[in-house]
Amino acid sequence: MELNERAELDTSQVNDRGRGGGAGGGMGIPLPGGGGRGGLIGIVVAVLVALLGGGFGLNAMTNGDEGGQAGGTDLEQLCSRDNAQRFDDVRCRNLLFVNSIQGYWEKAYPELGKGKYEPTKTNYFQAAVNTGCGQADSGVGPFYCPADRQVYIDLSFYDELASRFGAKGEFAQPYVLAHEYGHHVQNLLGTNEKAGQGDQSGPRSASVRLELQADCYAGAWAKHATESKDKSGQEPLFTSITQTDISEALQAAEAIGDDSIQERSGGQVNPDSFTHGTSAQRQRWFQQGFNGGDPKTCDTFGTDQL
Ligand SMILES: [Zn+2]
Repeated sequence: MELNERAELDTSQVNDRGRGGGAGGGMGIPLPGGGGRGGLIGIVVAVLVALLGGGFGLNAMTNGDEGGQAGGTDLEQLCSRDNAQRFDDVRCRNLLFVNSIQGYWEKAYPELGKGKYEPTKTNYFQAAVNTGCGQADSGVGPFYCPADRQVYIDLSFYDELASRFGAKGEFAQPYVLAHEYGHHVQNLLGTNEKAGQGDQSGPRSASVRLELQADCYAGAWAKHATESKDKSGQEPLFTSITQTDISEALQAAEAIGDDSIQERSGGQVNPDSFTHGTSAQRQRWFQQGFNGGDPKTCDTFGTDQL
């Protein structure tokens, strides 16, 4: 993957909220878990919280005594073309990914016959954050909150993904974001709400179907990612995406399958508790989206072949 040094980024799509989300860390954490109404929708199962000790071993539990939040960075300045080192910074790289993903949906969403795509923000946070779905800490992993229609990510999640889950490839990052934007698309389409009325766990549950569809949508974006243009509409955001990148996305999908995570956390693999799908399924649906490059081929609700 190569990012275009000349690209002008749209910083209005990302909000850096900095550190600390409000009163004391660790309280009232809504767990991710499929399309349960009101709850947030993450990329990994709730067991991750236990696995990671509920907060990445960062400063999740200490933010309360700081007397308020530390503000985030001004991305406008940090990620402007004037900063030749901007793509060394994970915040600017992820801003570019968000721009590309939303650029893709601006074009692809109308083809689904439900009107226009409505862009939404990604919020960077550290340790804890207040959302329309309640307060969350980093331990829940990146997530989408249907209530406020925004994406939330503590960028240190990627370090965890690399060190604890073995997904070291950098293309894991846009895969994660594209998955969360997949949930936003589902929210706009009403898929999310419908799925909230179905089973929330089990190998063929509505939750698993929702998550696998988000993986498929991520694959559809990946197929078209090099076509996405910068804020000026003149420059591509990516100058290249290679087969290695796609392999890295698949490796990430593999690493965070329900069965892999259950094995890794030392427990038995219990399909009845699946919320996101197995490693094989997550890979298959990402690949399906990538092969077809068309979200219409992501009908995880209309098939028995998950
Ligand atoms: Zn998800």
